Amino acid sequence: MSQTAPRYPDTQLLINGEWRNAQSGRTIDVFNPATGEVIGKVAHAEKVDLDAALDAAAKGFKIWSASSPFDRSKFMRRAADLLRERADAIAPILTLEQGKPVAEAKGEILAGADIIDWFAEEARRTYGQIIPARAVGVSQMAFKLPVGPVAAFTPWNFPINQVVRKLSAAIAAGCSIIVKAPEETPASPAELIRVFVDAGIPAGVVNLVYGVPSEISEYLIPHPVIRKISFTGSTPIGKMLAGLASQHMKLSTMELGGHAPAIIFDDADVEGAVKTLAMSKFRNAGQVCVSPTRFLVQENVYEQVVESFTEKAKAIKVGNGFDEGVQMGPLANERRIPALESLIQDAVDNGARLMTGGRRIGNVGNFFEPTVLADAPKTARIMNEEPFGPVAVFSSFKTLDEVIDEANRLPFGLASYAFTRSAENARELGMRIEAGMTTINHLGLALPEVPFGGIKDSGYGTEGGSEAINAYLTTKFVTHLVI
Ligand code: NAD
Repeated sequence: MSQTAPRYPDTQLLINGEWRNAQSGRTIDVFNPATGEVIGKVAHAEKVDLDAALDAAAKGFKIWSASSPFDRSKFMRRAADLLRERADAIAPILTLEQGKPVAEAKGEILAGADIIDWFAEEARRTYGQIIPARAVGVSQMAFKLPVGPVAAFTPWNFPINQVVRKLSAAIAAGCSIIVKAPEETPASPAELIRVFVDAGIPAGVVNLVYGVPSEISEYLIPHPVIRKISFTGSTPIGKMLAGLASQHMKLSTMELGGHAPAIIFDDADVEGAVKTLAMSKFRNAGQVCVSPTRFLVQENVYEQVVESFTEKAKAIKVGNGFDEGVQMGPLANERRIPALESLIQDAVDNGARLMTGGRRIGNVGNFFEPTVLADAPKTARIMNEEPFGPVAVFSSFKTLDEVIDEANRLPFGLASYAFTRSAENARELGMRIEAGMTTINHLGLALPEVPFGGIKDSGYGTEGGSEAINAYLTTKFVTHLVI
């Protein structure tokens, strides 16, 4: 049975603990990607609102950095519990604005609650050091202190989970934060922020703004109140923002684009690999930074894999995320349709075989066919540019060294996937693929307790695991001679 879409809420700014409209009253329309209809509005912040958010973040930092990690942890656990309680109510809001099936939306929210819990525990483990002194009576101590107010910029593909990693790590460390959440999908991240407010976090610690992304980043990043930035989005924008941050000596974390190789050896559980990778490829309509994109298959099993994957792609049920049995919703943004069509056309013009898909579905909503391209030459744009959509591109390889060279050919280095029964292959791939993450024979990425991040043009810093909180901490050395 299909679910009924809820009423979509308009989204306000959160500044100094108060939900409010932009001072100018300006708003931005929000669209349902499944119908193309305007479903609501989000407040459009301007400088005067950003100044208020900066004042609030400065004040919030004073309060929060003086709180005990034990208390922060309790607030965060309460927020995580509220998020779980509200998951059924928030999931349809996320689907309305972003398009993904409701069950996927609920999964994202529950995963978000687990991330908050993880960082709530990490808050209590921000250990410093006692360093043995050379002289009697001297104590040498290195403290881990919160870095200061943070500005975080997050995209629309996982409206909740892109915020939750930055927000939770910042709050756990004792920082205040201004989140610039996505204008395309504003209501579900606002519901995430609301659980922190309702859990009793002091006013000013968490602030939420929307507007013109470039205007906001160009104002917040250089501003003296902001001490750290974190961005998730495309590599070109990430490079620009990292440049701005470095000009102003601000710390930054960059989680950028990828072009993940997915390697299948002929000794693998080939059908198992196809099933697992097809599920992963079409999740969130391929709008995932770690989505498998370049499928590199050993020549003996190449045709078998292409055929089997194509069958799986054809069987994906595409539709409105509220409809029963739908596995893949629309693309979140209409602008991705011409971008994908042009990448696919270019691949075909360069000799790739279009096995299935390749086109928009209908003319209402941003639906796109699950697409499989075989034999795409390395010169095709799609073998070099991130498609960020439901497109799998296949080519074959002969040897381990050859496939490692291909995996490392691009400037990206975020996720990578491999399937093999050979322990030697697995060891070589694990060590030699230039990527922040390699998952072998299963999908094992993005748990709260494991590192999550890229290298090369995919960015720097990790947003998961025990190192993630360090990005929000600074080391303060104190030496004390007792007199
Ligand atoms: P885009 O480059 O225009 O925007 C990507 C994100 O950055 C958006 O959320 C946008 O609001 C934000 N942004 C853009 N300019 C900004 C600025 N000057 N200051 C601050 N934020 C800014 O691309 P798009 O059409 O929204 O998405 C397509 C591309 O973005 C994809 O190809 C992919 O590489 C990348 N992307 C990556 C992720 C990820 O999870 N790493 C998520 C979404 C998009």
